[in-house]
Amino acid sequence: MLTSPEFICARCHALGQGCCLAPEGPERMFGLTAGEIAAIAAASGLEPGEFLVADRATPDFLAFLAALNPVFPRTMPGGRRLRLRLTPDHACRFLGPEGCRLPLQARPIYCRIYPFSLNPHGRLMVLRNPQCLAQQDARSWREVLKRLGMDEAGVRTLFARLEELAAEHQRHPPSLAPRTDPA
Ligand code: SF4
Ligand code: SF4
Repeated sequence: MLTSPEFICARCHALGQGCCLAPEGPERMFGLTAGEIAAIAAASGLEPGEFLVADRATPDFLAFLAALNPVFPRTMPGGRRLRLRLTPDHACRFLGPEGCRLPLQARPIYCRIYPFSLNPHGRLMVLRNPQCLAQQDARSWREVLKRLGMDEAGVRTLFARLEELAAEHQRHPPSLAPRTDPA
């Protein structure tokens, strides 16, 4: 059986599930930093307003993220969140029939580390998701990493980059008029 990362994630998307959907709406979506927004704009040729929504993260979600790793709420200073726009069927606007249409280097860091994170003590952890095909029947987190073509060092490097981007975002948050539509 094929187990390449592309195959697993493409199969996940074909099943109508996966980490690029927000079936319950945007409430628990992560925020983007200014650096990530600039990278997406450069790669897609779109203006930030075409792929972003500015809204506010709920206190409950911010508390959840702070427990996961304090870097995540730092991407949403004061709860002000810049998140990816959703389609009417609650998919990320960059999700295509064969997966993400953005080049890997331009994808948000939370997308690139998923389904992994570092806990507040710096330990690698898996964000449990029974729908994630890479996790199904995996015997260890190392197996999940391998199935997705990832390694621990790569996750740590991306996390370190997110720390830098979040600090820069807090110093110079981009301006984008808040929207009230749910997309
Ligand atoms: S940017 Fe790409 S990888 Fe991230 S949620 Fe959207 S489609 Fe998925
Ligand atoms: S990382 Fe997991 S949940 Fe996301 S598309 Fe791949 S298999 Fe599905």
